[in-house]
Amino acid sequence: MSATVTFKCPNCGAGLVFDAEKQSFSCEFCLSSFTEEELLGSDSERAAEAEARENEEFSAELNEYHCNSCGAEIIADRSTVADFCYYCHNPIVLADRVSGIQKPTKIIPFRFNKEEAKEIFLRYAKKKLFLPKDYFSPEQSDKITGVYYPFWVVDADTHANLTATGKRIRTWRAGNYRYTETSSFAVSRDGEIHFEDLSASAISTEDKAMLEGILPYQLNEHIDFSMPYLQGFIAKKRDIESDRLSAELRGKMAGYASTILSGTVRGYSAVVDKRTELTVKGSRWDYTLMPVWMLTYQRGGRTYTYAMNGSTGKIYGELPVSKPKLAILGSIAAAVIGALSFLIGWGVFL
Ligand SMILES: [Zn+2]
Ligand SMILES: [Zn+2]
Repeated sequence: MSATVTFKCPNCGAGLVFDAEKQSFSCEFCLSSFTEEELLGSDSERAAEAEARENEEFSAELNEYHCNSCGAEIIADRSTVADFCYYCHNPIVLADRVSGIQKPTKIIPFRFNKEEAKEIFLRYAKKKLFLPKDYFSPEQSDKITGVYYPFWVVDADTHANLTATGKRIRTWRAGNYRYTETSSFAVSRDGEIHFEDLSASAISTEDKAMLEGILPYQLNEHIDFSMPYLQGFIAKKRDIESDRLSAELRGKMAGYASTILSGTVRGYSAVVDKRTELTVKGSRWDYTLMPVWMLTYQRGGRTYTYAMNGSTGKIYGELPVSKPKLAILGSIAAAVIGALSFLIGWGVFL
């Protein structure tokens, strides 16, 4: 069961994970750990309780739907009626009880409305060859849906330290001898590095290729979340909590820090034994909704996804190829090749 009360790290602000073995809460982002007593009565506990209350208020304004055909879980505000599943186009049912849905802190609003999104899709589809006709029929293109996808967006203040051994090699000749001198230097670099807008998807299911296809978002365009932005749109329910991403994002930051600091180590023939230590001093985790215009098409048991970044307009499409149309082209090509060989044959006989 996912708890609605999640403790935040008093040191850096990331989500804490409970370690049953050590009976303590640990932060995989800044690598500190806390006992339950240390957290109870602390700011962290009060913040967790306030957040749980906010989530309940947020949930009260929402409908949650489950698709029994494909398993999609979506949320929409109460004024928005979702009667079909944006993904498999089957009818969907309202879940009986909505509770503890986490409230986003940031959102990037849609820049295109449904009519504009439809027009862009039709222009895109008409330029493509061999598409089945019903791919862009009015009935189909009308199913284009504005879906908010959940992401975690992280800012972090860190201190990074790089240690390494730098080698300088000098060779010279004297008489019949060749000398090589290797000098070793202890290299150390320190830096304060601020990371801004590191992002990771907050859903574990499908759509990876699609999301990669429409990224990036201009993250500086995100604004504080408020309910009206949801109106007329649906949102995918997030199922990855921030604590599950801590170790991965920490690894990414350490990698960037190592590259940045290594870039300042110059003048050696070789640099070996590189080691980077990263200390996270503070962080901010924003559960952020990002806009996608999405249209799927089912054919032969497969789902083809068309998606457009609702903010930048970047398009991703998996195209269904119509077999009869391809076959006609194939036979035309075969006929042309046949005619050519006939002409060549004729030339030789002359
Ligand atoms: Zn921490
Ligand atoms: Zn579905």
